[in-house]
Amino acid sequence: MSFFDSLKKGISQFFGNVKEEAADRAKEAAEDKARELADDTADRIKEAGEDRKRRKEDEKAAEEEAKKTAAKAKEAFRFCSECGRKADPDEKFCPECGGKIIFRYRACTKCGKMAEDDEKFCTDCGGQIAEKTEEGA
Ligand SMILES: [Zn+2]
Ligand SMILES: [Zn+2]
Repeated sequence: MSFFDSLKKGISQFFGNVKEEAADRAKEAAEDKARELADDTADRIKEAGEDRKRRKEDEKAAEEEAKKTAAKAKEAFRFCSECGRKADPDEKFCPECGGKIIFRYRACTKCGKMAEDDEKFCTDCGGQIAEKTEEGA
């Protein structure tokens, strides 16, 4: 191998190394960036998940509250299924006739909203109000 040939080889090797190093560095930088992005995305996904969880808990609490309110409201609508006597809160059966206590109330046939007075139509959706009875009072 002539001197020039080996010089050329040396130079091309040198530039080859430089190129490889640069490529390595670019790859590392890209990997770093990707890791950063992935971490960032993971953080954001986690945050969104926690947000959703919080919102779900809020919704659940509101739902529980609504259920409690509805149950309490229903207490006022307990009647004897036999004689129609208004039941006291702790009565499961009528003290007068032994009939089963049921819920009897008036509610919207469309949205289910309980009627407050003797309205004929729902104040929320205009649906017809009908008397409803429910067992398990
Ligand atoms: Zn009764
Ligand atoms: Zn309605």
